[in-house]
Amino acid sequence: MKECTDYAYEVGPIRPPSEAASLLLRVTRNCPWNRCKFCGVYKKTRFSVRPKEHVLKDIDSIKMWTDWLKAAEAAGAQERKGLAERFFNKLDEEQSWVYSSAAHWYRNGMKSVFLQDSDSLVIKPDDLVDILTYIRKQFPEIERITSYSRSETVARISDENMKRIADAGLNRIHIGMETGSNVVLKLVDKGTTKEKHIIAGRKVKAAGIELSEYFIPGLGGNEYSELNAIETADALNKINPDYIRIRTLAVTQRGSLIEDYRKGVFTRANDTKMIEELLLMVENLEGITSTIVSSDHIINLLPEADGRLPDDKQKIISVLKGYLELPENEKIIYRIGRRTGVMSSIKDLDDGDSRDHVLGLINKYGINSDNVDAFVDDLVNRFI
Ligand code: SF4
Repeated sequence: MKECTDYAYEVGPIRPPSEAASLLLRVTRNCPWNRCKFCGVYKKTRFSVRPKEHVLKDIDSIKMWTDWLKAAEAAGAQERKGLAERFFNKLDEEQSWVYSSAAHWYRNGMKSVFLQDSDSLVIKPDDLVDILTYIRKQFPEIERITSYSRSETVARISDENMKRIADAGLNRIHIGMETGSNVVLKLVDKGTTKEKHIIAGRKVKAAGIELSEYFIPGLGGNEYSELNAIETADALNKINPDYIRIRTLAVTQRGSLIEDYRKGVFTRANDTKMIEELLLMVENLEGITSTIVSSDHIINLLPEADGRLPDDKQKIISVLKGYLELPENEKIIYRIGRRTGVMSSIKDLDDGDSRDHVLGLINKYGINSDNVDAFVDDLVNRFI
């Protein structure tokens, strides 16, 4: 291995919720695109690729500490004393940081690794194959290696290289489709097209890699709500991803979509409109076996709108219709209940304590049908 210069152990800022138990391994820093108007995660940062040798060194450091943790767990009292000395000799400031990552992973069973940041497949395929191979060599027991990527990036990778990447051990890719509508993709400067989303999604699946696609209800505002639903369903029907993950739009101060909103170029859909949009999208999903996931993020109003297609389609539709059929004042109670963390299902409207608590909040803050959207926007912004 080449000697590492300017090496530092690094962890990036985000991961999908489904990777909470994973080891986070930073392959690149930030986002090579960084222009999506709804996203503020990497704003004011510059993209760079970490040297492969640095990533391999991270893997070695994690391996050292997980071996130490395994040995400490198996050791008798006397032996543990020696291990503790070795531990404190090694634990400088940088190694404390590595140790906390290793310990978190060890406690969670060391089953999965997530490659950070926003688009690990942008690096040279040979380097990615080397990194994946080294992870598998050092941790042969792991079940899953996953990463975020962009459709534009994946669409450029040859089928042959995608297969090599799969064979080297990448088992799942998370892609932010966000919408299948070319109009909306352009509106939010996603930097790709519906056609590229389809090519990339099919390429991932053809290589035998699991695929998570993300959909954002509300991304087209009120004006393109129907288009957002129908075009997304059409793209997803052509891909059949393993997972369709719902991420209801939040217009935050960190993204530039808020400027379009202030200028009146973008109109915000409220919770009810976004549930109508999600319903239309789900109703238009046909001939696929994806699992719809709404429960993995607090941003979604109805976490119980989860299930595998086609069997659970009617169940998901019933959940969405159940909310839409509520009287307006019940919708307000549920929206405030969910956004304040008091309720997590429409069924909680029947829970006396939860209901009283939410009614108290509504009275206290003077929430009504005229100001509920602004109140909810403010609450949602605090979640993310
Ligand atoms: S949504 Fe993804 S691709 Fe777009 S700027 Fe954010 S991290 Fe980059």
